[in-house]
Amino acid sequence: MSDTIFHKIMRREIPADIVYEDDDMIAFRDIAPQAPVHVLFVPKRDFSTLNDVPADSAVVIGKLAVAAAAYAKREGFDEAGYRIVMNCNGDAGQTVFQIHLHLLAGAPLGHFGTPGR
Ligand code: 5GP
Repeated sequence: MSDTIFHKIMRREIPADIVYEDDDMIAFRDIAPQAPVHVLFVPKRDFSTLNDVPADSAVVIGKLAVAAAAYAKREGFDEAGYRIVMNCNGDAGQTVFQIHLHLLAGAPLGHFGTPGR
């Protein structure tokens, strides 16, 4: 597992707009937002991709999702709606190899999943 830009953000070596942190994760605004709200939830435990998360560590992923939902509620867009996404490897466009959950919200979101789009 190599050091990533997200580890540097966790260690406060590079700046980020941090919106949430607890013992398990950190959440900060994406530097290149794809929606009016675009927050990344990153666990403090190291996993390069979703493929590397064993079944007995499923709680790590669950906590990210629950924290994203809690953030949506706190910010008041839980009823309007939001999307959570985790990219895995090349075809999904994963660029940072420390797992992270994208939270996208703030406007009607387009469809997704079309090859090449
Ligand atoms: P991935 O493509 O791996 O699923 O998502 C990585 C995300 O990290 C991208 O949406 C990208 O914009 C974001 N990102 C990359 N470098 C930085 C950075 O230095 N700071 C922040 N806040 N986000 C970053």
